[in-house]
Amino acid sequence: MDDKLTAQQIENLRKYEEDIENAAKREKFMEPIRKEGERRDAEIYELKQKICEIGKRLWQLGFVAGNDGNISVKYDNDTILTTPTGVSKGDMIPGRCERNSILEIFNDINYDPKNYLIRPSSEIKMHLRCYELRSDIGAVVHAHPPFATAFAAANIPLDNDILTEAVMLLGPVLVAPYATPGSDDVPEVIAPFIKEHNAVLLANHGALTVGADLDEAYYRMEVLEHVAKTTFITRLLGGGQAIPPEKVSELSELGMNFTMRKL
Ligand SMILES: [Zn+2]
Repeated sequence: MDDKLTAQQIENLRKYEEDIENAAKREKFMEPIRKEGERRDAEIYELKQKICEIGKRLWQLGFVAGNDGNISVKYDNDTILTTPTGVSKGDMIPGRCERNSILEIFNDINYDPKNYLIRPSSEIKMHLRCYELRSDIGAVVHAHPPFATAFAAANIPLDNDILTEAVMLLGPVLVAPYATPGSDDVPEVIAPFIKEHNAVLLANHGALTVGADLDEAYYRMEVLEHVAKTTFITRLLGGGQAIPPEKVSELSELGMNFTMRKL
């Protein structure tokens, strides 16, 4: 038998080598894209875990009951991660596609939550409005902590300058007018307050805090409830002594240099 290769066999070999070369080129082209995707997935997963952790803390502290409350974080200008509707904040998971999974949604206030298989909270528009109003906001927390919510229900602002932390970390916390939760009125009633403040009470409803990241938004909620509780006790004792006005501005300046973000 002649062991010379036929013209067809030579052509097949050439094609085979060309295929290998193309596969290598494709691999080289795809590698950075795949790595970028893996990096994004890992970062998003970490943020989802953080939302679950904060949800547990809100639930353990009694800041939410039943399915109350919602948390969100801005991953990038187009992407928001947020809590699903109808789930206890103490019972969420970072994974995908389960009823209690943290969701990835578009940063678009006109987006209809009904378009999602697993729906975000009906109050997501309130969060999206915060991101729209201020580019420095990276996370939003909404809860119903009992003392802060009591001040909201009584329509009493927390703006008496009687506690140093309140002045430094929150500034005056005012009460936004009543709006039905989940309605399009909510984003509008909170807007003037969030433009100027990092915390606001929602009349007959609860509280909303914002921050540069999840830690800061969450810690502001903790501080807000602590301030509300202490103010309540102070009132039972006959009312607090206000900090002298010149010292208030000193504290505000100190507060501006203070961060609750994880550095
Ligand atoms: Zn609520």
